[in-house]
Amino acid sequence: MKKDNFNSPDYYLIDKLLSEENLLIRGITRDWVKSNVSPIIEEAVQKDKFPIHFIKSLSEIGAFGPILPEKYGGAEIDYISYGLMMQELERGDSSLRVLSSIQSGLIMKLIYEYGNENLKTRYLMKLSKGEIVGSFGMSEPNHGSDPNSMSTRFYSTNEGYVINGSKLWIGQAPICDLALIWAKNNKNEFGLFLIERNTNGFETSKIENKWGFRGSETGELIFNDLKIKKDNLLFLTKKFEEVLKCLNIGRYAVSWGALGIAMDCYDCALKYSNERKQFGKKIASFQLVQKKLAEMITEITKVQLMVWRLGLLFNKNQETYEQVSMAKRSSVKMASKVARDARSILGGMGITSEYPVMRHILNLEVLATYQGTEEIHTLITGRSITGISAFK
Ligand SMILES: Cc1cc2nc3c(=O)[nH]c(=O)nc-3n(C[C@H](O)[C@H](O)[C@H](O)COP(=O)(O)OP(=O)(O)OC[C@H]3O[C@@H](n4cnc5c(N)ncnc54)[C@H](O)[C@@H]3O)c2cc1C
Repeated sequence: MKKDNFNSPDYYLIDKLLSEENLLIRGITRDWVKSNVSPIIEEAVQKDKFPIHFIKSLSEIGAFGPILPEKYGGAEIDYISYGLMMQELERGDSSLRVLSSIQSGLIMKLIYEYGNENLKTRYLMKLSKGEIVGSFGMSEPNHGSDPNSMSTRFYSTNEGYVINGSKLWIGQAPICDLALIWAKNNKNEFGLFLIERNTNGFETSKIENKWGFRGSETGELIFNDLKIKKDNLLFLTKKFEEVLKCLNIGRYAVSWGALGIAMDCYDCALKYSNERKQFGKKIASFQLVQKKLAEMITEITKVQLMVWRLGLLFNKNQETYEQVSMAKRSSVKMASKVARDARSILGGMGITSEYPVMRHILNLEVLATYQGTEEIHTLITGRSITGISAFK
């Protein structure tokens, strides 16, 4: 069984900016990852198997809906604590952050914000206890970066709504008990619907043999003349910006999560460089290795400060879509470079499952595309600073 000796880098003493509660939540999550995840994750990922018992276990450390009020199964933690939790989970493996952040930020938060009391009482507590699992469907087979053009359609009937279409690349789709999905009607309105697993006309399938997110189930949600009640429409809007806004919290979680990966890779490379000898010396003594390590800690520190500041904005409900987009892109880009440099410092050992680095690199390939590609996030920043949209 593998021992996890992770120490988090803190070059700018950012820990001193954190509250006791922030440190406590980070500590609980880190300890949980060290004892429950690190010893088994490499094997699970090699076998392309999602460790299903993590669902219950994650609920026990409060990783489902912690930002929500206690009444609905949350703990009302602030956004810095939530970010630190995402950092620690993704350091363990992307699959854990994916599970926790979809359930918390997309499913529970959206039901809490838009659902009526009946839906909140019916689902939120069960979601927080991990008794049921949700998936969130925006992307489609033919509409990934351009969800505004989605083909999934709904129309109204006397009893409720009928939905047709499908959503692809959906986290937890094969194992979900319910799904929140976006569909459009012929008035160009976007509707956010809650669909239960056992609804007629609802099917899911699994995407096999992924090289990234191997510890996570991904698949398709399919709707064939699916009929649901009026209550299951959570939100209706003509404004696409309002549809996109619901992605903010998910992207915020990725910003912290990718940082967690970078910290893990850096820690691993720093320790290895102090143990491994070549030409009769520790490789840490070579200038080219030190350059890599120095760049890594510098870039990690910049992102640590960025996500911390973004967390404070979230705490005051002052974050913008564009700020979140910048953090997601910067953090993933930084982590991808750090992980590749760490892999290089580890030499041949870097490609084995003795170390987490190669697994993180494969997950980072997904992170660069998922929740908006690097290119799309660059264009979001470009649009915000020039006032000109370069999307089309
Ligand atoms: C493992 C995994 C899990 C996922 N989980 C979910 C989930 O739970 N829920 C969900 O809704 N979605 C999910 N996604 C989908 C993800 O959000 C999409 O893959 C992503 O938005 C990109 O869409 P696409 O794959 O269709 O790529 P495309 O949109 O086809 O893009 C292909 C390439 O074209 C580029 N491109 C497109 N438009 C432009 C442009 N205007 N200018 C410049 N370049 C452009 C892109 O940047 C990219 O490089 C997941 C994806 C993966 C891989």
